[in-house]
Amino acid sequence: MGNVLAYCEFSGSTLRSSALSNIAFARASAQAHGGEVIAVLIGAGAAGAGANAAKYAPKVITVEDAKLEHYLAETYAPILARLAKDNNATVVSATATSAGKDVMPRVAALLDAGMASDISKSEGKDTFVRPILAGNAYSTVQITTPIICVTVRQSEFEAAGELGSAGSVTSAPAGEINALGASFDHIDAQKSDRPDLGDAKVVVSGGRGMKNGENFKVLEQLADLLGAAMGASRAATDAGMVPADWQVGQTGKIVAPNLYFAVAISGAIQHLAGMKGSKTIVAINKNKDEPIFQVADYGVVADWEKAVPELIAEIKKIKASR
Ligand SMILES: Cc1cc2nc3c(=O)[nH]c(=O)nc-3n(C[C@H](O)[C@H](O)[C@H](O)COP(=O)(O)OP(=O)(O)OC[C@H]3O[C@@H](n4cnc5c(N)ncnc54)[C@H](O)[C@@H]3O)c2cc1C
Repeated sequence: MGNVLAYCEFSGSTLRSSALSNIAFARASAQAHGGEVIAVLIGAGAAGAGANAAKYAPKVITVEDAKLEHYLAETYAPILARLAKDNNATVVSATATSAGKDVMPRVAALLDAGMASDISKSEGKDTFVRPILAGNAYSTVQITTPIICVTVRQSEFEAAGELGSAGSVTSAPAGEINALGASFDHIDAQKSDRPDLGDAKVVVSGGRGMKNGENFKVLEQLADLLGAAMGASRAATDAGMVPADWQVGQTGKIVAPNLYFAVAISGAIQHLAGMKGSKTIVAINKNKDEPIFQVADYGVVADWEKAVPELIAEIKKIKASR
């Protein structure tokens, strides 16, 4: 019998939607291990987001300290490792976000635990399926250490729903904080009113066929009409058309929105690796033979310069008529 410690990222007073996929995994894993889910929130505002986390997990532990204001794997990993031991955890999990992928290998090292990264499925207590070779194949791994560390692919685990009754929230001390010489400098992030790419329900992505950054403005109009986040292929970000943090794919963000627009994107396997878990995919491409059409639910064979403004005009008409 053992508990599942789920490291949950939050924004303001609520859990990030990516954290709900981790909780979905944690619930199934806790059942297999005969234990319970313990959500852990670390950093500035953790206590404030605790109540929201308690809607999803029977037990929530928050850790706040001035030295934890900014995420650093060096300071967060020892806290997770300590809480895992203190709370009889046999599984420690995180969503496979940038932070989750960064912190969890350190937690595994501190706990002498085996680790399964970026899993798409769990089978029983200790066996996990994970995509390899840019999603072209799946490997099944069994972890035999007493504690198991896991990162969970957001797109493969349906977000957990709220529990019938709220769980308990406690705070835990940060303990001794040693950043091992690392320090937070600054975050170079694009300021945007749009939803976070990893959490968005709708994503509008553009590729090399958009030709330049100026042309992306038409996609931004579409995104703003739909309350969507902006994404891009690596060809577009590498060419400097749009910011690097818009990149979707194997080496970018993994997204799983309800609706994904791929505009002037060919559908290379590395791009598909980041978005093929989307519920509905709409592709706009002038070449009908591109691989993007193999994963698209709706394919529009057209020049984006014609199709996207027409789409915007239709959406505006529908909105105006409501
Ligand atoms: C190790 C590695 C990791 C990688 N990681 C990623 C990753 O994370 N994400 C990623 O995206 N890529 C990644 N790539 C790159 C990937 O292989 C492709 O090169 C890239 O995805 C291509 O981007 P694209 O579809 O925008 O460009 P292209 O393949 O050049 O496609 C452009 C598309 O635009 C269409 N088009 C052109 N003009 C128009 C028009 N006027 N109207 C409509 N359609 C038009 C064309 O028909 C074409 O399909 C990676 C590659 C490697 C080797």
